[in-house]
Amino acid sequence: PATLGMLGGGQLGRFFVLAAHEMGYQVWVLDPDPASPAGAAADRHLKAAFDDYAALDELAHGCAAISTEFENVPADTLDYLAKFVPVRPSADAVAVCQNRVAEKSFLASHGIPHAPFAPINTEADLREVSPTLFPAILKVARFGYDGKGQARVANRDEAIAAFRGFKGEACVLEQMLSLDYEISVVLARDEAGQVKCFPASENSHSRGILDVSIAPARATVCLRDSAQEIAEKIAADLGYVGTLGVEFFISRGELYVNEMAPRPHNSGHFTVDACVTSQYEQQVRALVGLPLGDARAHSVAVMVNLLGDIWFDAAGNCREPDWSRLFAIPNLKLHLYGKRHARPGRKMGHFTVIGTDPVKVLAAATAARSAIGIRDE
Ligand code: ATP
Ligand code: MG
Ligand code: MG
Repeated sequence: PATLGMLGGGQLGRFFVLAAHEMGYQVWVLDPDPASPAGAAADRHLKAAFDDYAALDELAHGCAAISTEFENVPADTLDYLAKFVPVRPSADAVAVCQNRVAEKSFLASHGIPHAPFAPINTEADLREVSPTLFPAILKVARFGYDGKGQARVANRDEAIAAFRGFKGEACVLEQMLSLDYEISVVLARDEAGQVKCFPASENSHSRGILDVSIAPARATVCLRDSAQEIAEKIAADLGYVGTLGVEFFISRGELYVNEMAPRPHNSGHFTVDACVTSQYEQQVRALVGLPLGDARAHSVAVMVNLLGDIWFDAAGNCREPDWSRLFAIPNLKLHLYGKRHARPGRKMGHFTVIGTDPVKVLAAATAARSAIGIRDE
């Protein structure tokens, strides 16, 4: 069977491996972490850094095509691999999504709605930004995730203090929007420009980390359609091939793009259990040039992330949660990622409740969430 390459060994890569195996492909995973979830599921795990060119040569020569599950793979690595083998998404598309300055400039130059922002390279830049940006969020331009590398700042002085805290790293200062709620759209786009969009999901976060996704989002059809149109425009303008996640804010009834993920998205986990084709199968299909599958949802779904916090009791002792409480619910699907060590805030697994009645599904997921010990902040 043909062998596919995956850059990154996290849970998104693991679901790609599982989907690829079901479709008859082998997968080699490149990730420096010897205990990476995707590495453990793969046919071969190259335990090397993303800029280890000997390992990249092996991957390029052993694989028919290569994708990524990690948005911070160096663009140079993708460019290098692309000399030997198809790499999807392309280095250029990933480069836009992995730097907030490039990302927001892309949105601005393509007429896509986004929060007002300014690139910040020096303290002088902060002294000159428009006062209308405050209150704001200062975000490091690269390597931030799960709300890390962000500071909420009420005014210029706080922004300068926060910028010093980030030790001079390039940042963006973004106006704080008053959020009605957040949604995301995951889509897949093939080489010929055909697009399949999954239903938009509605996302709530806890301590900056995705907590619950409800699909379809409880937004008007008009808003969901516009979000899909915007996501499709982004994919087309990026010349994107593969699975793409686009996060949106809804503020005073209007859509704003927050950020893009050049890979499957945490909020798209529901597609595994609730859609005809999952976001991971689409990633495989787009990668190897197969026609995309039907993205239609056959069920409504609520996905709940399982963070490492629930592995610890009140005394701080680590023990496996009692999964029988979840297995007792017939329309609940549990997915554990096989991570050996739990840490607070670490994504260890998720579950999805599916059904036909959105109110009942949400109630069941909420009950399951508390039964397993997840507390609201
Ligand atoms: P992810 O884990 O999704 O990659 P991240 O660390 O890249 O997260 P963002 O998505 O930029 O961070 O922001 C995290 C969350 O912070 C958002 O989902 C939203 O709840 C809040 N947030 C970010 N920017 C703004 C803003 N301009 N106005 C209001 N809330 C915001
Ligand atoms: Mg992000
Ligand atoms: Mg985000």
